[in-house]
Amino acid sequence: MKISIAGAGVAGLTCGVVLAERGHDVTIVASEIGITSRAAAAVWFPYDCAPEEKVHAWALVTYRRLLDLEREPASGVSLVEFRCLDLPLPEWISALGKLPLMETPKYLDYLRHRFRGELRLGVTLRSLDDLSGDIVVNCTGVGARVLANDVEVEPHRGQVLVVEKLDLPAALVHETSLAYAIPRTNDCILGGTNDESDELEPKPDDTAKILAICREYLGVTGRVREVKVGLRPFRRSGVRLEADGRVIHNYGHGGSGFTVSWGCAEEVAALIGARTSGRTTNRLTGAGTEWSPDETSGDCGPEVRAPYAPTRLTSATKRGSLRSGSNDGSTFSQTADSDRSA
Ligand SMILES: Cc1cc2nc3c(=O)[nH]c(=O)nc-3n(C[C@H](O)[C@H](O)[C@H](O)COP(=O)(O)OP(=O)(O)OC[C@H]3O[C@@H](n4cnc5c(N)ncnc54)[C@H](O)[C@@H]3O)c2cc1C
Repeated sequence: MKISIAGAGVAGLTCGVVLAERGHDVTIVASEIGITSRAAAAVWFPYDCAPEEKVHAWALVTYRRLLDLEREPASGVSLVEFRCLDLPLPEWISALGKLPLMETPKYLDYLRHRFRGELRLGVTLRSLDDLSGDIVVNCTGVGARVLANDVEVEPHRGQVLVVEKLDLPAALVHETSLAYAIPRTNDCILGGTNDESDELEPKPDDTAKILAICREYLGVTGRVREVKVGLRPFRRSGVRLEADGRVIHNYGHGGSGFTVSWGCAEEVAALIGARTSGRTTNRLTGAGTEWSPDETSGDCGPEVRAPYAPTRLTSATKRGSLRSGSNDGSTFSQTADSDRSA
Protein backbone atom coordinates (compact mmCIF):
# COMPACT_ATOMS: atom_id res chain seq x y z
CA MET A 1 0.00 0.00 0.00
CA LYS A 2 1.20 3.56 -0.66
CA ILE A 3 1.37 5.43 2.63
CA SER A 4 2.28 9.02 3.53
CA ILE A 5 3.23 9.84 7.10
CA ALA A 6 2.96 13.43 8.30
CA GLY A 7 5.60 14.08 10.97
CA ALA A 8 9.16 12.90 11.61
CA GLY A 9 9.34 12.89 15.39
CA VAL A 10 9.56 9.63 17.30
CA ALA A 11 5.94 8.81 16.40
CA GLY A 12 6.33 9.33 12.64
CA LEU A 13 9.77 7.73 12.36
CA THR A 14 8.74 4.64 14.33
CA CYS A 15 5.59 4.26 12.21
CA GLY A 16 7.77 4.67 9.13
CA VAL A 17 10.12 1.90 10.24
CA VAL A 18 7.30 -0.51 11.12
CA LEU A 19 5.21 0.12 7.99
CA ALA A 20 8.14 0.00 5.54
CA GLU A 21 9.39 -3.22 7.14
CA ARG A 22 5.95 -4.70 6.48
CA GLY A 23 6.37 -4.04 2.79
CA HIS A 24 4.45 -0.78 2.38
CA ASP A 25 5.67 2.02 0.12
CA VAL A 26 6.15 4.78 2.72
CA THR A 27 6.99 8.48 2.44
CA ILE A 28 7.49 10.61 5.55
CA VAL A 29 6.83 14.33 5.09
CA ALA A 30 7.70 16.88 7.78
CA SER A 31 9.10 20.30 8.38
CA GLU A 32 11.98 18.81 10.42
CA ILE A 33 13.15 15.75 12.36
CA GLY A 34 11.29 15.94 15.64
CA ILE A 35 10.53 19.06 17.56
CA THR A 36 9.60 17.78 20.96
CA SER A 37 11.35 14.48 20.27
CA ARG A 38 14.73 16.25 20.09
CA ALA A 39 14.30 17.72 23.57
CA ALA A 40 13.28 14.56 25.42
CA ALA A 41 15.58 12.75 27.83
CA ALA A 42 14.10 10.04 26.89
CA VAL A 43 13.43 7.35 29.46
CA TRP A 44 10.83 4.62 29.03
CA PHE A 45 8.28 5.71 31.61
CA PRO A 46 4.52 6.36 31.27
CA TYR A 47 3.87 10.00 32.17
CA ASP A 48 1.37 12.73 31.28
CA CYS A 49 -0.54 10.56 28.84
CA ALA A 50 -3.89 8.76 28.72
CA PRO A 51 -5.91 6.50 28.63
CA GLU A 52 -4.14 4.40 31.20
CA GLU A 53 -4.98 0.87 29.97
CA LYS A 54 -3.92 1.58 26.41
CA VAL A 55 -0.82 3.47 27.50
CA HIS A 56 0.29 0.51 29.63
CA ALA A 57 -0.22 -1.95 26.78
CA TRP A 58 1.56 0.25 24.20
CA ALA A 59 4.34 0.88 26.72
CA LEU A 60 4.93 -2.82 27.30
CA VAL A 61 5.15 -3.56 23.58
CA THR A 62 7.65 -0.71 23.31
CA TYR A 63 9.60 -1.97 26.31
CA ARG A 64 10.08 -5.32 24.60
CA ARG A 65 11.25 -3.73 21.34
CA LEU A 66 13.68 -1.54 23.28
CA LEU A 67 15.16 -4.55 25.06
CA ASP A 68 16.04 -5.89 21.61
CA LEU A 69 17.46 -2.55 20.50
CA GLU A 70 19.64 -2.31 23.58
CA ARG A 71 21.76 -5.08 22.03
CA GLU A 72 22.44 -2.85 18.99
CA PRO A 73 25.08 -0.22 19.93
CA ALA A 74 24.04 2.09 17.06
CA SER A 75 20.52 2.43 18.46
CA GLY A 76 21.44 4.69 21.38
CA VAL A 77 19.30 2.53 23.68
CA SER A 78 20.67 1.45 27.06
CA LEU A 79 19.19 0.18 30.31
CA VAL A 80 19.40 2.41 33.38
CA GLU A 81 18.54 2.04 37.00
CA PHE A 82 15.68 4.41 37.70
CA ARG A 83 15.53 5.68 41.25
CA CYS A 84 12.93 7.97 42.76
CA LEU A 85 13.81 9.79 45.92
CA ASP A 86 10.35 10.61 47.24
CA LEU A 87 7.75 8.08 46.01
CA PRO A 88 7.64 4.35 45.28
CA LEU A 89 7.45 3.04 41.72
CA PRO A 90 4.26 1.30 40.63
CA GLU A 91 4.85 -2.42 41.18
CA TRP A 92 4.45 -3.44 37.55
CA ILE A 93 7.22 -1.00 36.61
CA SER A 94 9.63 -1.87 39.41
CA ALA A 95 9.17 -5.55 38.45
CA LEU A 96 10.84 -4.74 35.13
CA GLY A 97 14.14 -3.79 36.82
CA LYS A 98 16.29 -1.40 34.80
CA LEU A 99 14.41 0.77 32.31
CA PRO A 100 15.30 1.67 28.71
CA LEU A 101 16.89 5.04 28.01
CA MET A 102 16.87 6.34 24.43
CA GLU A 103 19.66 8.84 23.89
CA THR A 104 18.26 11.47 21.57
CA PRO A 105 19.44 12.49 18.96
CA LYS A 106 21.29 9.16 18.48
CA TYR A 107 18.06 7.20 18.75
CA LEU A 108 16.27 9.45 16.22
CA ASP A 109 19.25 9.03 13.86
CA TYR A 110 18.99 5.28 14.29
CA LEU A 111 15.28 5.32 13.37
CA ARG A 112 15.95 7.62 10.45
CA HIS A 113 18.62 5.32 9.01
CA ARG A 114 16.62 2.16 9.66
CA PHE A 115 13.63 3.64 7.80
CA ARG A 116 13.40 2.06 4.33
CA GLY A 117 11.37 4.70 2.53
CA GLU A 118 11.47 8.28 1.36
CA LEU A 119 11.98 11.13 3.85
CA ARG A 120 10.96 14.61 2.70
CA LEU A 121 11.95 17.35 5.12
CA GLY A 122 11.49 21.12 4.94
CA VAL A 123 7.81 20.82 4.00
CA THR A 124 5.20 22.79 5.94
CA LEU A 125 1.82 21.14 5.51
CA ARG A 126 -1.31 23.27 5.55
CA SER A 127 -3.60 20.26 5.33
CA LEU A 128 -3.35 16.47 5.47
CA ASP A 129 -5.15 16.54 2.11
CA ASP A 130 -1.87 17.81 0.62
CA LEU A 131 -0.47 14.28 1.04
CA SER A 132 -0.89 11.54 -1.53
CA GLY A 133 -1.32 7.83 -0.86
CA ASP A 134 -3.92 5.21 -0.04
CA ILE A 135 -3.35 5.99 3.63
CA VAL A 136 -2.10 9.11 5.47
CA VAL A 137 -0.78 8.61 9.01
CA ASN A 138 -0.94 11.77 11.10
CA CYS A 139 2.00 11.89 13.54
CA THR A 140 2.31 15.65 13.88
CA GLY A 141 2.40 16.02 17.68
CA VAL A 142 1.20 19.47 18.72
CA GLY A 143 0.89 20.27 15.00
CA ALA A 144 -2.29 18.17 15.05
CA ARG A 145 -4.02 21.05 16.80
CA VAL A 146 -4.10 22.75 13.40
CA LEU A 147 -3.81 19.86 10.93
CA ALA A 148 -6.55 17.78 12.61
CA ASN A 149 -8.37 20.86 13.88
CA ASP A 150 -8.23 19.32 17.36
CA VAL A 151 -8.78 21.76 20.21
CA GLU A 152 -8.12 18.98 22.74
CA VAL A 153 -4.38 19.11 22.05
CA GLU A 154 -2.48 21.09 24.69
CA PRO A 155 1.23 21.96 24.48
CA HIS A 156 2.81 20.92 27.77
CA ARG A 157 6.07 22.83 27.57
CA GLY A 158 9.16 21.15 28.98
CA GLN A 159 12.59 22.72 29.37
CA VAL A 160 15.70 20.68 30.15
CA LEU A 161 19.40 21.40 30.55
CA VAL A 162 22.18 19.42 28.91
CA VAL A 163 25.11 19.52 31.36
CA GLU A 164 28.51 17.87 31.46
CA LYS A 165 28.78 14.14 32.07
CA LEU A 166 28.13 13.39 35.74
CA ASP A 167 29.01 10.27 37.65
CA LEU A 168 25.57 9.29 38.94
CA PRO A 169 24.63 5.83 40.26
CA ALA A 170 21.23 5.90 38.51
CA ALA A 171 18.70 8.11 36.78
CA LEU A 172 17.41 10.18 39.70
CA VAL A 173 13.96 11.63 40.05
CA HIS A 174 12.17 13.63 42.71
CA GLU A 175 8.60 13.42 41.58
CA THR A 176 7.01 16.08 43.74
CA SER A 177 9.33 18.81 42.52
CA LEU A 178 9.78 17.38 38.98
CA ALA A 179 13.54 17.40 39.49
CA TYR A 180 15.39 14.76 37.50
CA ALA A 181 18.92 13.92 36.41
CA ILE A 182 19.41 11.43 33.57
CA PRO A 183 23.05 10.33 33.02
CA ARG A 184 23.92 9.64 29.37
CA THR A 185 27.05 8.48 27.54
CA ASN A 186 28.59 11.92 27.02
CA ASP A 187 26.46 14.26 29.11
CA CYS A 188 23.60 14.46 31.58
CA ILE A 189 20.07 15.86 31.28
CA LEU A 190 18.70 17.93 34.16
CA GLY A 191 15.01 18.76 34.35
CA GLY A 192 12.45 19.77 34.37
CA THR A 193 9.33 21.82 33.81
CA ASN A 194 5.78 21.18 32.66
CA ASP A 195 3.65 24.24 31.88
CA GLU A 196 0.87 24.78 29.40
CA SER A 197 2.59 27.03 26.88
CA ASP A 198 3.78 26.90 23.28
CA GLU A 199 6.84 29.09 23.87
CA LEU A 200 9.78 27.27 22.26
CA GLU A 201 12.43 29.77 23.37
CA PRO A 202 14.45 28.78 26.46
CA LYS A 203 13.50 30.74 29.57
CA PRO A 204 16.37 31.84 31.89
CA ASP A 205 14.02 31.64 34.89
CA ASP A 206 13.31 27.99 34.11
CA THR A 207 17.03 27.29 33.80
CA ALA A 208 17.61 28.79 37.24
CA LYS A 209 14.67 26.83 38.66
CA ILE A 210 15.90 23.51 37.24
CA LEU A 211 19.38 24.05 38.67
CA ALA A 212 17.86 24.95 42.03
CA ILE A 213 15.52 21.94 42.31
CA CYS A 214 18.17 19.49 41.10
CA ARG A 215 20.58 20.83 43.71
CA GLU A 216 17.99 20.84 46.48
CA TYR A 217 16.17 17.55 45.85
CA LEU A 218 18.75 15.42 44.05
CA GLY A 219 22.02 16.89 45.36
CA VAL A 220 23.11 17.26 41.72
CA THR A 221 24.47 20.19 39.71
CA GLY A 222 26.49 20.68 36.52
CA ARG A 223 27.79 23.21 34.00
CA VAL A 224 25.10 23.99 31.42
CA ARG A 225 26.09 23.19 27.82
CA GLU A 226 22.73 23.58 26.14
CA VAL A 227 19.11 24.38 26.97
CA LYS A 228 16.38 22.45 25.17
CA VAL A 229 12.64 23.03 24.97
CA GLY A 230 9.89 20.76 23.69
CA LEU A 231 6.10 20.79 23.66
CA ARG A 232 4.64 17.54 24.99
CA PRO A 233 1.61 16.88 22.76
CA PHE A 234 -0.91 16.23 25.53
CA ARG A 235 -4.50 15.50 24.51
CA ARG A 236 -7.24 15.98 27.10
CA SER A 237 -9.26 12.87 26.17
CA GLY A 238 -6.16 10.77 25.54
CA VAL A 239 -4.00 9.65 22.64
CA ARG A 240 -5.83 9.74 19.33
CA LEU A 241 -5.08 6.51 17.49
CA GLU A 242 -7.93 5.85 15.10
CA ALA A 243 -8.89 5.81 11.44
CA ASP A 244 -10.87 8.66 9.96
CA GLY A 245 -11.41 7.97 6.27
CA ARG A 246 -8.00 7.43 4.66
CA VAL A 247 -6.29 9.19 7.59
CA ILE A 248 -5.02 7.27 10.61
CA HIS A 249 -4.32 9.60 13.50
CA ASN A 250 -1.47 8.82 15.88
CA TYR A 251 -0.84 11.84 18.11
CA GLY A 252 -1.42 13.18 21.60
CA HIS A 253 1.23 11.10 23.39
CA GLY A 254 2.00 13.84 25.93
CA GLY A 255 5.04 13.00 28.06
CA SER A 256 5.18 9.37 26.83
CA GLY A 257 5.85 9.58 23.11
CA PHE A 258 9.01 7.46 23.28
CA THR A 259 7.49 5.11 25.85
CA VAL A 260 4.51 4.15 23.68
CA SER A 261 6.12 4.59 20.24
CA TRP A 262 6.46 0.95 19.10
CA GLY A 263 3.14 -0.13 20.56
CA CYS A 264 1.33 2.70 18.78
CA ALA A 265 3.18 2.11 15.49
CA GLU A 266 2.21 -1.55 15.57
CA GLU A 267 -1.41 -0.66 16.22
CA VAL A 268 -1.31 1.71 13.25
CA ALA A 269 0.07 -1.18 11.17
CA ALA A 270 -2.73 -3.43 12.40
CA LEU A 271 -5.36 -0.82 11.46
CA ILE A 272 -3.87 -0.70 7.96
CA GLY A 273 -3.68 -4.51 7.82
CA ALA A 274 -7.35 -4.70 8.76
CA ARG A 275 -8.27 -2.70 5.66
CA THR A 276 -7.18 -5.60 3.52
CA SER A 277 -8.12 -8.51 5.82
CA GLY A 278 -11.45 -7.11 7.04
CA ARG A 279 -10.83 -7.91 10.72
CA THR A 280 -12.86 -5.74 13.08
CA THR A 281 -12.20 -6.37 16.78
CA ASN A 282 -9.29 -4.99 18.76
CA ARG A 283 -8.27 -7.43 21.49
CA LEU A 284 -6.33 -4.68 23.26
CA THR A 285 -8.95 -1.99 23.37
CA GLY A 286 -12.15 -3.81 22.49
CA ALA A 287 -12.76 -1.56 19.51
CA GLY A 288 -11.51 -0.94 16.01
CA THR A 289 -9.24 -3.42 14.33
CA GLU A 290 -7.80 -6.62 15.74
CA TRP A 291 -4.46 -5.92 17.37
CA SER A 292 -2.61 -7.85 19.99
CA PRO A 293 0.78 -6.95 21.44
CA ASP A 294 1.89 -10.54 20.87
CA GLU A 295 0.93 -10.99 17.24
CA THR A 296 2.71 -8.00 15.80
CA SER A 297 6.25 -9.33 15.74
CA GLY A 298 8.01 -12.58 16.34
CA ASP A 299 10.91 -11.05 18.29
CA CYS A 300 9.22 -10.06 21.48
CA GLY A 301 11.82 -10.69 24.18
CA PRO A 302 10.80 -11.53 27.74
CA GLU A 303 7.13 -11.89 28.50
CA VAL A 304 5.77 -8.92 30.41
CA ARG A 305 2.14 -8.13 31.11
CA ALA A 306 0.48 -4.87 32.11
CA PRO A 307 -1.72 -5.43 35.15
CA TYR A 308 -3.30 -2.04 34.50
CA ALA A 309 -2.36 -1.04 38.03
CA PRO A 310 -2.90 2.67 38.43
CA THR A 311 -0.07 5.07 37.72
CA ARG A 312 -0.60 8.79 37.52
CA LEU A 313 -0.69 9.03 33.78
CA THR A 314 -3.30 11.59 32.97
CA SER A 315 -4.11 15.16 33.83
CA ALA A 316 -3.50 14.37 37.48
CA THR A 317 0.16 13.88 36.60
CA LYS A 318 0.61 16.76 34.33
CA ARG A 319 2.01 19.24 36.79
CA GLY A 320 5.24 17.75 37.95
CA SER A 321 4.45 14.20 38.88
CA LEU A 322 6.84 11.83 37.22
CA ARG A 323 5.69 8.68 38.98
CA SER A 324 8.84 6.90 39.82
CA GLY A 325 11.00 4.48 41.65
CA SER A 326 12.04 3.01 44.90
CA ASN A 327 14.79 4.75 46.74
CA ASP A 328 17.50 3.37 48.89
CA GLY A 329 18.02 6.91 50.09
CA SER A 330 21.77 6.49 50.20
CA THR A 331 23.72 9.58 49.20
CA PHE A 332 21.16 12.03 47.94
CA SER A 333 19.38 14.89 49.60
CA GLN A 334 15.69 14.16 50.18
CA THR A 335 14.25 17.35 51.56
CA ALA A 336 10.81 16.67 50.11
CA ASP A 337 8.53 19.65 50.05
CA SER A 338 5.16 18.67 48.71
CA ASP A 339 4.03 22.29 48.39
CA ARG A 340 6.54 22.83 45.66
CA SER A 341 5.46 22.05 42.13
CA ALA A 342 7.17 22.34 38.78
C1 LIG B 1 11.48 17.96 28.30
C2 LIG B 1 10.78 16.74 27.78
C3 LIG B 1 11.13 15.50 28.28
C4 LIG B 1 10.48 14.35 27.82
N1 LIG B 1 10.87 13.14 28.30
C5 LIG B 1 10.27 12.01 27.85
C6 LIG B 1 10.68 10.75 28.32
O1 LIG B 1 11.59 10.64 29.15
N2 LIG B 1 10.04 9.64 27.82
C7 LIG B 1 9.03 9.73 26.89
O2 LIG B 1 8.48 8.71 26.49
N3 LIG B 1 8.63 10.93 26.44
C8 LIG B 1 9.21 12.06 26.90
N4 LIG B 1 8.81 13.29 26.45
C9 LIG B 1 7.65 13.35 25.54
C10 LIG B 1 8.06 13.06 24.09
O3 LIG B 1 9.18 13.84 23.78
C11 LIG B 1 6.90 13.36 23.15
O4 LIG B 1 5.75 12.62 23.55
C12 LIG B 1 7.27 12.95 21.74
O5 LIG B 1 8.48 13.53 21.37
C13 LIG B 1 6.19 13.35 20.75
O6 LIG B 1 6.63 12.89 19.50
P1 LIG B 1 5.87 13.26 18.18
O7 LIG B 1 6.56 12.53 17.09
O8 LIG B 1 4.41 13.04 18.36
O9 LIG B 1 6.05 14.85 18.05
P2 LIG B 1 7.30 15.74 17.59
O10 LIG B 1 8.59 15.19 18.01
O11 LIG B 1 7.00 17.13 18.03
O12 LIG B 1 7.26 15.66 16.03
C14 LIG B 1 6.23 16.29 15.28
C15 LIG B 1 6.58 16.16 13.81
O13 LIG B 1 5.48 16.70 13.06
C16 LIG B 1 5.99 17.64 12.13
N5 LIG B 1 4.94 18.63 11.88
C17 LIG B 1 4.04 19.15 12.73
N6 LIG B 1 3.23 20.01 12.11
C18 LIG B 1 3.64 20.04 10.81
C19 LIG B 1 3.21 20.73 9.64
N7 LIG B 1 2.17 21.61 9.66
N8 LIG B 1 3.86 20.52 8.48
C20 LIG B 1 4.91 19.66 8.41
N9 LIG B 1 5.35 18.98 9.48
C21 LIG B 1 4.73 19.16 10.66
C22 LIG B 1 7.24 18.22 12.78
O14 LIG B 1 8.11 18.78 11.82
C23 LIG B 1 7.82 16.95 13.40
O15 LIG B 1 8.55 16.23 12.44
C24 LIG B 1 9.44 14.46 26.87
C25 LIG B 1 9.10 15.70 26.36
C26 LIG B 1 9.75 16.84 26.80
C27 LIG B 1 9.36 18.17 26.25
